Amino acid sequence: MKCTVVGMWGGFPKQNGPTSGYLVEKDGFSILLDAGSGVAAHVQNYIDLNDLHHIFLTHYHYDHSVDIGSFLFGRMISTQLGRVDKTLNFYGPGDKGVEARVNKVRNNTFHSYGKNSTFNVGPFSIEFHKNAYTVETYAMRITDDDGHVLVYTADTSYRKSLVRFAEGADVLISECSLYAGEDGEKMGHMDAEEVGGLAAKAGVGKLVLSHLPHYGNLDELAASAESAGGRGVVLAEAGMEIEV
Ligand SMILES: [Zn+2]
Repeated sequence: MKCTVVGMWGGFPKQNGPTSGYLVEKDGFSILLDAGSGVAAHVQNYIDLNDLHHIFLTHYHYDHSVDIGSFLFGRMISTQLGRVDKTLNFYGPGDKGVEARVNKVRNNTFHSYGKNSTFNVGPFSIEFHKNAYTVETYAMRITDDDGHVLVYTADTSYRKSLVRFAEGADVLISECSLYAGEDGEKMGHMDAEEVGGLAAKAGVGKLVLSHLPHYGNLDELAASAESAGGRGVVLAEAGMEIEV
């Protein structure tokens, strides 16, 4: 599978730089992980909106989900114009408000998931890990029909259970909101050392640091993650293509 980073900033977008969004593709089939600020606009650099039918949301903070509305109206209007006749499916933690918002807009459908859910969509199987975060949030493990594995942490503090969940992944896209020495447990996020340690313990082949902070020297994040044992460490950037 191939993963294209649509956006990777934590919290809020930069100028022309979206927050969380990752387009995962194989054999002409696509799924989008998260729909943060600017993702609906920028994902069109890589795919026609009418060819996207599955959006997996990790949680409902704005930097991961605010563009739900853009995708809903996009599908509704394209349906009215006769440009598409397939449903746009949203998958997210159970939330009556989000479910109602999605389902009332023509040609959009909401599916809730929990920690024991598995979805088989096209060539992908998607499993979930309940994170330690301020709101209900899940990491995702995507396995393709060739057995290649991509794990995306979304937002979370460090937990040992993440090591098991990411075990043996070819690629781990991890949030890396904090620099080494900052208090991840208090902030509900991980620092670069924790992320590097997670990747090392899980034996992942390549580590992509994402959900990056708007301050400091980002190269220090990669250096800290490498020192902690992370292999193949790179900083995510918009447009980056990752072969999994
Ligand atoms: Zn976030």
